[in-house]
Amino acid sequence: MTDVFGDLVGQDEAVAMLRRAAASAAAQLRAPVTATAGGHDDLDALAEEYDGDPGPAPADPGAGMTHAWIFTGPPGSGRSVAARAFAAALECVHGTGCGSCPGCHTTLTGTHADVRLVVPEGLSIGVNEMRALVLRAASAPSGGRWQIVIIEDADRLTEAAGNALLKAIEEPPPRTVFLLCAPSTHPDDISVTIRSRCRVVPLWQPPPTAVAEVLVRRDGIAPDVAEWAAAAAQGHVGRARRLARDPEARQRRDAVLAVPRRLTGVGAAFDAASALIEAAEAEAAASVAEIDEAERTALQTALGAGGTGRGAAGAMRGAAGQLKDLEKRQKSRATRAQRDALDRALVDLAGFYRDAIVMALRAPVAPVHTDTASLAAAGAQKWDAEGSLRRLEAVLECRAAIEANVKPRIAVEAMMLALWRG
Ligand SMILES: [Zn+2]
Repeated sequence: MTDVFGDLVGQDEAVAMLRRAAASAAAQLRAPVTATAGGHDDLDALAEEYDGDPGPAPADPGAGMTHAWIFTGPPGSGRSVAARAFAAALECVHGTGCGSCPGCHTTLTGTHADVRLVVPEGLSIGVNEMRALVLRAASAPSGGRWQIVIIEDADRLTEAAGNALLKAIEEPPPRTVFLLCAPSTHPDDISVTIRSRCRVVPLWQPPPTAVAEVLVRRDGIAPDVAEWAAAAAQGHVGRARRLARDPEARQRRDAVLAVPRRLTGVGAAFDAASALIEAAEAEAAASVAEIDEAERTALQTALGAGGTGRGAAGAMRGAAGQLKDLEKRQKSRATRAQRDALDRALVDLAGFYRDAIVMALRAPVAPVHTDTASLAAAGAQKWDAEGSLRRLEAVLECRAAIEANVKPRIAVEAMMLALWRG
């Protein structure tokens, strides 16, 4: 049985940093409360004990525990995996993240009473959600160790929510720890003031060999499938696992990689754009349908739908408002899921044109998509390195445009036309 850090693929430095911090946190919990309180009254006694040996060097301040952290790295590098592993190590009854005690186990399965995970479902995390969270995080940990708040995609905090969080980070309750995940520490992703209060844990994109290794070891996937999936997923561990296991994910990828071949004219370019958008919509709809339905049912039960007793009319008026709120949240989540699905498709497509560039340049680099390598080679011959680069840029521009809130269909149509024209 590996410990909680076993899933962090190719992140040795970050793991070492987190292990030191967990050990230091455990030492803090063990230390008697009075140890550092007040000054030393009996300096004389201390002076008498002093024998010229300066004692152990003061601990490296960077090695210890602190109450606010930011995990940064490209998508798939394991930001949230790292944050959860660290949370488990902090809640671990042995203080190490052993991976098998109740503290580790409940944290990793998401049922620990003192660990709260914020996963933004819409396009941003709002101020009310953040205030409620900060308030609850201020209470004493029920398990006697730490209150932990993990915020995935902290770059999606609204400004007001960021300010509410900043206040909590500036005056942290003694046993509360905030773990933020963001693509980078660029001011677009995380405010400078929040950044200045946090310790940064940088994560890197793991090499395909490391991703393949973990798929084989932990998920029992056959080595050849693991190697193919790790390369195709371009270092994204979760994506590699899905490709290796889920035939529908493989089909969607195949459809995306058929795009370059299909672009034979303007009409075909528009058709390809529609197909890509519709596939993303269908994938997103499937991913949120189940939870949408469960939420609606839960709310209707909570509101006592169909009640006829006294107060039912008043309750119905309130219910309409709550249903509207729920629908708004669900719509926002669906939009996010669509964008994420579309982004995955664009990353696959970018990998194809990247392969074409590499081949045109005869660079000694393995292709991302081994199964479309011959098609990329044909493209390399036809377009040369420059034409392949222009196409790659068109895909990247499309991603950037969607991120900047351009309507996905418009951005994708523009991209398809650029890919066709070259
Ligand atoms: Zn443990």
